[in-house]
Order: sequence, then C-alpha cells, then structure tokens
Amino acid sequence: MKSAKNGEYTEEMRYIAKKEGVDIEKLRRAVAKGHVVILRNTKHNVEPVGVGSGLRVKVNANIGTSMDIVNVEAEVRKAKIAKKYGADTIMDLSTGGNLPEIRHRIMKEVPMVIGTVPIYEAAWQMLERKKAIVEMSEDDMFNAVESHLRDGVDFLTIHVGVTREAVEKMKKHPRVVGTVSRGGTFHAAWILHNDKENPFYENYDYLLELLAEYDATISLGDGLRPGGLPDATDFLQIHELYTIGRLVKRAREKGVQAMVEGPGHIPIDQIEANVKMAKIATDNAPFYVLGPLVTDIASGYDHITAAIGGAIAAKAGADFLCYVTPAEHLALPNEEEVKLGVIATRIAAHAVNLTRFEDEYKWDYEMSKARASLRWDEQLNLSIDKENAIKIRKERYPHSPQVCTMCGEFCAIKILRDYLNEGKE
Ligand code: SF4
Repeated sequence: MKSAKNGEYTEEMRYIAKKEGVDIEKLRRAVAKGHVVILRNTKHNVEPVGVGSGLRVKVNANIGTSMDIVNVEAEVRKAKIAKKYGADTIMDLSTGGNLPEIRHRIMKEVPMVIGTVPIYEAAWQMLERKKAIVEMSEDDMFNAVESHLRDGVDFLTIHVGVTREAVEKMKKHPRVVGTVSRGGTFHAAWILHNDKENPFYENYDYLLELLAEYDATISLGDGLRPGGLPDATDFLQIHELYTIGRLVKRAREKGVQAMVEGPGHIPIDQIEANVKMAKIATDNAPFYVLGPLVTDIASGYDHITAAIGGAIAAKAGADFLCYVTPAEHLALPNEEEVKLGVIATRIAAHAVNLTRFEDEYKWDYEMSKARASLRWDEQLNLSIDKENAIKIRKERYPHSPQVCTMCGEFCAIKILRDYLNEGKE
C-alpha cells in the first residue's frame, strides 16, 4: 500500500494486473486508496491474490479441525480439493489438535493464500494450560497474532470491532440467535470477565505495526454478525460496522491493507442494502461476505443458500465470497462437502464475473456453441466440474451419441439442426 501511495508498481501489482487483465495504473490507485487489497505476507512464497473494486469476485474455502474431529491428513486433502476446484484462498480455522503444526502442514503442502483467526490459537493455548479462555492475557492474544504473521499467514481475521461499548449495547439489544462468531464471542466474554477494553482495539496502532511489518492484510471480523434472519441488519450489526469503518481509516493511514467481513444470515431483499451500507461505512474497503445465507431452514443444503446470497451480494458490490458447505450448522464438512461448497460459491462468483470480464463470458459462450453443435466432448470439458459431468453422461448414456437421455429422439437441437441443414450438402 505504501508503494502504491508512492506511485510505484510492485511485482505483486504487475502479477495481478496481468492475471486479471486490468490496467496497472488503475490497480495501483485502487491499492493506494485501500479499495483493493493484495493478499500475501512477505514471508509467504505464494502467488498473491487481489481482492476489491475492479477485480474478479474471489472465493474462499474454510478448512480446519474441530475439537471433535482432528484429522490433519483430511484437512490437507480438503485444502487440495479447495484448490483443485478453484478456490482463490483458504482459511485454516482449526480449533482441535496442535494448531501451529496443522497450520504449518497445510501451508507446506498447499501453496495458496491463507487466512487465519489467531484468537482461536490463543484460546486453544488456554485450554491446553487447563485455564478458561477468558483468562488469556493481552500478551497471549498478541503473541498468537505475531506467530501467525511470522509463519507467513496472508490475512488475519481480528475482531477489533467487538468493543466494550458494543458489548454494553449487546445487553440492551437482545437478539433471537445472539452472537454466532466464535472470535466475536471470545472477545465479548473476555471484555465482560476482565471488565476491560478489547486489547486489539485498545492497542490498535501496535497491531497495525505488526501487520505492516509483514504486509499482511487485516480482515476486520464481524464479531456481531447476525446468526439468523431475525437478527439481520440490526442495531448491533450496524453499530459494529461503523466502528469497523473507523478502523479501516486508521489502517489505511498507517499503510496497512484492510478488508471488512460481512454477514451472515440476511434476507434476500436486504442484501443489496447491506453491501452498499458496508461500502459507504468503510469508504469502499474490499468486502468479504460469509454467504450470505438467504434462509435459515436449508440445513444440509446451505451451500445453495449461500450461493444464492453470494451471487446477489457480489452483484451489489461484495468482492470476496466465503463458501458455505452442505454441512454448515450440522457438522465439520468432509471432503465431498468442501468440494460442493467451493463449486457452489464459484458458480455464484462466476455468474457475476462473466458480466464484467470478457474471458469469463467467453467460457459461457463456448459452452453455448458446443451445446448448439451437440459437441459433447467439448461440453464436458467446459463444465465447471468436468468429472461429474462425464460421470452423469456415462451413467445414462443415450442410444445415439449425438443426443442425451433427457429427450433422446425428441432432441430439439438435433431435430432443428437436421431440418436446417437438409439439402445443404
Ligand atoms: S436431448 Fe434434449 S437435453 Fe439433451 S441435448 Fe438434446 S435437447 Fe438438450
């Protein structure tokens, strides 16, 4: 960001401008203003990812262990699946097992931009020491941040906006679902237990200095995001958003890249307003949404719920979509569920990207031409999940290779094509 402000083009800017097919001067200006962030820690040898205005909508996949299921090999495989199916970034949200070891392993085996929530590690360490999470010291919190930065984590979710004032307001503004962010809850409980301000808020300038040293991006976590439709766009959510807006400004003044996390569970008719409000409150900071989920009743299918919300949010200006898997609200996702989550969210992102980028639209155009010509190999190759498309066609193969078993001899494309071409030869 400092280079961008000085009018310089960095290696990362050149890479992203080329990859995305955007003008480098426009990109530089957007980075200088904080409207685009370039995700890459200086210690991490990965291809950077740009997020924000004028760039393609990106997709993140969350992986990581839980207290109940600790299988590092499976998490590494999930990260590989996320990469294979086109996620731009992963977040390691592990809470069970040896957290630093898991992170190192994933980063070693799967070279891609990675985000984490360091407060999880501070909380895990307390449990390892047989202490209560709220007993963690300010040093414990900052040590966790520093160790993630040293490891090369590219973006860190930190819930700086969960302030003492916000916690006071929580008492006066009860919710149906309450607080669903783990990090947000840790901070709120810590503030109440210790009767002190959130250390990351109190020492925000120091936090920014640490981030600046590694050119890591702060992802300002929405600790008070709504966890159900009845709590959407409520006072607590918006109050936190405006605190985050001020934090973005301070980060930019220090040359630290900042993006903003958003909800959550939002009714479909409130998504656009939420995105616009976030962009206004944060002076167009890159906006990273979880879903949003447009209904609360789709357990087992929340990858679809989130993709619907994600497409609408992206159309309204959200820059970064965090996937949701079919296991959301039910269990830690397995490998197949990670795949389904990534594909659903990629479809949402692509649906918007194709309206903005010629090469993304070309993909659809080529598919349309292949369908019109009944060129099946090409259609299968162009499918977002080629293996699945091949499997379905093979399982229910038609009597004639030109058509498919949906209509067979009634194939509209074939009938019309045969008549149009009659007598041409
Ligand atoms: S058989 Fe029906 S569904 Fe299949 S390609 Fe022809 S028109 Fe399309």
